[in-house]
Amino acid sequence: MTEKFIGYLRLIEACRQGGCPVCRRVAEESRTRLGAILHEHVTDPETRRALRDSWGFCNWHTWMVREVDTSLFGASILYEDLLSQAIDRVTSLVDRPRPKGLGAWLTGLGARLTRLASRDARPDIGDDYGRRPACPLCLTAAETERHCLLTFVACIEDGDLQAAYASSDPLCLAHVLRASEVMSGSPEVRILVERTQEKWQAIRRALRSFVEKHDHRNQTAYTAEDADSYVRAFEILAGARGLFGNDLGAGRGTPRKPNPG
Ligand SMILES: [Zn+2]
Ligand SMILES: [Zn+2]
Repeated sequence: MTEKFIGYLRLIEACRQGGCPVCRRVAEESRTRLGAILHEHVTDPETRRALRDSWGFCNWHTWMVREVDTSLFGASILYEDLLSQAIDRVTSLVDRPRPKGLGAWLTGLGARLTRLASRDARPDIGDDYGRRPACPLCLTAAETERHCLLTFVACIEDGDLQAAYASSDPLCLAHVLRASEVMSGSPEVRILVERTQEKWQAIRRALRSFVEKHDHRNQTAYTAEDADSYVRAFEILAGARGLFGNDLGAGRGTPRKPNPG
C-alpha cells in the first residue's frame, strides 16, 4: 500500500470521527509523532537538540503530552532537561552587574530609560525567545495538513471519499481557506467549498431551530442535532480545540519563524 493511499484511507476514517476531518487528521498524526518521541527518542541527541532550539513544544503539543504518555516517564526526562535550560536562559535577566554609588546608579538609570524609549525594550533573551524556531511537531503537523488538503481536494469526486464526506461534519473555516491556497482556482476546490457551505448552512439552521425552541410558547422538544449545533459552529469558526492556538502574541514581538532545517 502506498503512503498516498494510506493517507487517503486515514482521511476517510477521519470523516467518521466528528468535527473537521482535516483537524482530526492533523491532531491524530501529532499524537502518533509525539508518542514516538516520548516512548522511543527521548534520549536521542537530535530530538533533544531540536527541542532545545525551539524552547520545547508549543502550548498545544505540550499539553498533548499528558494524553500520549500516561506514565509521564519519558516526559519527565525531557522536561527536566528543558526546564534546566529555561533556568539557565533566564539567568541572564538577573545576572547583570548592579551599579555602585550615585554616579553609577544615574548611569544605570539613563541606560534603562534609553532602553524603555527604544521600540523594543526587551532584553536580549526576549529577542531569542521571539526568534526561536517553530515547535518541531507543528512543522510536521503543517506537512500533514498540506498532504491531507491536497488529497481531499484531488479526490473530492472519488466515490469513497465523497460518501464519507457526505455524512461527515464539515471542514472548518481555516481548512477551507487553506484548501483554496494549496490548489488555488481548481474546479475541485469549488466543489469542496460548495459541499462544505451546504453543511455549514444545515448547522446554521439547527442553531436557529435551537434558538426558536427557547421561546416559552414552544412545545417542540430539542433534537440532538439542535443541542449539538453550537459545538459544531465553534469548530467551524475556530477549528478543533487547541489546534490553531490563540492571538495573544499577535502584534507583539518578532513572529516565531519556522525552522529552515
Ligand atoms: Zn479544520
Ligand atoms: Zn506544536
